[in-house]
Amino acid sequence: MSVGLDDIVSLAKRRGFIYPSSEIYGGLSGVYDYGPLGVMLKHNLENIWWSSFVTGWDDMYPMDAAILMNKKVWEASGHAAGFNDPLVECGNCHSIFRADKIDTKKCPTCGKEGTFGKPLDFNLMFRTQTGPTWGSFEPTEKSHLTGTLTEKGKDGRPLREFTIKELDRNNSVMVYDKQGLTYLRPETAQGMFVNFKNVLDTVQPDLPFGLAQIGKGFRNEISPRDWLFRMREFEMMEIEYFIKPTEWEKYFEQWRAGMMTFFKKVGLSESMVHEKEVPEADRAHYSQRTIDFEFDFPFGKDELAGLAYRGDYDLSNHQKTSGKDLRYRPKNGGEPFLPHVIEPSFGVERLVLALLASAYAEDEQGGEKRTYLKLNASAAPVKVAVFPLLKNKPELAKKAREVYKMLKDELGSVEFDDNGNIGKRYRRQDEIGTPYCITIDFETLDNNTVTLRNRDTTEQQRIKVEGSLQMLKYFKW
Ligand code: ATP
Repeated sequence: MSVGLDDIVSLAKRRGFIYPSSEIYGGLSGVYDYGPLGVMLKHNLENIWWSSFVTGWDDMYPMDAAILMNKKVWEASGHAAGFNDPLVECGNCHSIFRADKIDTKKCPTCGKEGTFGKPLDFNLMFRTQTGPTWGSFEPTEKSHLTGTLTEKGKDGRPLREFTIKELDRNNSVMVYDKQGLTYLRPETAQGMFVNFKNVLDTVQPDLPFGLAQIGKGFRNEISPRDWLFRMREFEMMEIEYFIKPTEWEKYFEQWRAGMMTFFKKVGLSESMVHEKEVPEADRAHYSQRTIDFEFDFPFGKDELAGLAYRGDYDLSNHQKTSGKDLRYRPKNGGEPFLPHVIEPSFGVERLVLALLASAYAEDEQGGEKRTYLKLNASAAPVKVAVFPLLKNKPELAKKAREVYKMLKDELGSVEFDDNGNIGKRYRRQDEIGTPYCITIDFETLDNNTVTLRNRDTTEQQRIKVEGSLQMLKYFKW
C-alpha cells in the first residue's frame, strides 16, 4: 500500500517516536526531537549499522570527533567557500526557495511569474563563536554601532580586529573576536580526515582500512521540508575507507553491494530502494564518482544515502593547508603516498523515515481497521509485550510479572502493560511494531501455558512457559 507522510507523522507523534522540537513554543523549522520509542528505534538502527560495518569488519576503526573544529578545517575542505545552495527570493511575496528545487519561472507561493532574480550562493554552514565576546562598551559615537574595532598595542600598532555585531540589553555594543569564528560541522567526515595522522601514528593500520563515526551534522537548509527528510540538525553515520588509488573501483563496488545488504538487513523493502549514478554536474565538489541510493518516500523518490569516491581531495587539501605530512608509509618500505577514499554516508533520520514508510501497514481485523508497523525484530523498539488478561486479578498479575521479568532479563526491550482492555493493548503494540505479545490468562494458572500473538498475522498459539531461552524458539525473527 502507499502510505501518506501525514499518516506516518501522526503515528510517530501519537505513539512517542518523534516530536517537533520545542513544540510548546511553536517548534523550530527543520528540527525534531526523539521520544522514548524513537530513541529505541534509532539506537537499533545505529546498532545494526555498527555491527554491519564496524564490529563486523577486521579493518574498521571507530571515531568520535568533536562537532566544533578549528575553522581552518572548513577552509581547507572547501566548505567555507563552496558548501552552497542556490537561493532565490520572490520579488513580489518575498518567499525564499532553493532554486534547484523549484521551477523559477513562477513563484510557488504567490503564483506570480518572472519575480525571481539571479540565484545567490547561500552557505549552509551554521556559524558560531568560540570564547566569550571580547566585551561590551557604551557607544559614544554613531560610527561605533557597525563595522570593526581594532585593538591597538601601546605603540599604537593594531593587535586584533573585532567585529561589532549587535546591541545588548543595556544598549552596549557587543564585540566579537573574528578569530573565534567557527562552524557547527555540516558532515562528520572532516573529523576523520583531520585525525588520519593520529590514527596512522597510534593504531598503525594497514591499507585498506576505514574510520567510522556516528554523530550530529548541521546544515542551515534554505527550505527544510518533508519532516525528517530535509532537516537543519540531523545524525549521520559515515565511513571513510582509505585505499590504494589503483583499487578504488574494486572497493567502490564492494561498498555499493554492502550498502544494499544493509538496507535489506534493517528491513527496508527492496523494491523501494534504487541506485542512481550522479552525473558530474550534480556531484559534490569533492567527489569523482557518486551513487545515490534513492528511496520511494511518500512524497516521491529521493536520496536516502550516498556513496562517493573522494579521491585524495581531503587529505591533500589538509596536507597543503596544515603543512603536516599526511602520507601513508607502506610497511614494506615502499614510497609514501596519500591514500584515496571511498565514503559511504547515511543519514539516520532519512533511514528512520524510510523504515517507518516501509513498515507502515493497514488491514482489517474483525471489521475494524488496524494500523501496524511491520518492523524487523532487530529494529523494533519493543521485542515482546507481556499482559495479564485482567488488571484486578492479583494471581494473573503476579504470573505476568514473572514471565515479563524472565524475558526482560534475556531480551532487554520487553514491555509490561495492564492498562485498558486487551484489544486496546494489542492495538498499541501493533502500532509501535512489537512483533509478539504474550497474554497470561486463567488457563495459565491451570497448565502454565500462555498465548503468543503474532503482530503480522494476529494469530495466537498457546505455548508453555519455560526458561526464556526455550521460549525464544517460538519467536521467528
Ligand atoms: P541532498 O542532495 O538531499 O541535500 P546531500 O547529497 O547534500 O543531500 P550528503 O552530503 O551526501 O547529502 O549527506 C549524506 C547523507 O546525509 C544523505 O544521504 C542524507 O541521508 C543525509 N542528509 C543530508 N542532508 C540532510 C538533511 N538536510 N536532513 C536530513 N538528512 C540529511
